[in-house]
Amino acid sequence: MNDCIFCKIEKNEIPSERVYEDDGYIAFLDINPISFGHTLVIPRGHHSNIDETPDGVLAGMIALAKKIGLAVVASLGADAYNIHINNGRASGQLVDHVHLHIIPRTLDDGLKAWRGRGSYPEGEMSATAGKIKTELDKNLPR
Ligand code: 5GP
Ligand code: ZN
Repeated sequence: MNDCIFCKIEKNEIPSERVYEDDGYIAFLDINPISFGHTLVIPRGHHSNIDETPDGVLAGMIALAKKIGLAVVASLGADAYNIHINNGRASGQLVDHVHLHIIPRTLDDGLKAWRGRGSYPEGEMSATAGKIKTELDKNLPR
């Protein structure tokens, strides 16, 4: 946690190009942007990933991402924006301080987020849904 690069950015121990800050969050430009204006939103408190972050903190992150997304569209001539979170190493998360990416997009930028889509063999789709539902029912009774 003490070695956390985003905590250091939050404390101004490492410089960053901030576009927004308040008591709970800061937003700054990603040093290696996917497109110009690529912005990261982090909570000030250290939480390693989504699963470790209180729901209220996550809600604030997404609400702020919406405002920043609208600002990048209006100010940079983007057509849209992606909101992206890598959650866990296998997903591509490199910095273990929960953060959300806002990536300005244009209609002709040619970016493809995912290589391709598959399809389910017979029976596999409902079996897969069943496994997830069973797990959810343990923790999310309705
Ligand atoms: P992740 O892969 O963990 O979702 O994304 C981490 C992001 O943090 C990467 O896009 C990377 O470019 C960005 N990043 C890493 N170190 C720094 C830094 O020191 N300053 C800034 N502004 N961004 C950083
Ligand atoms: Zn941290």
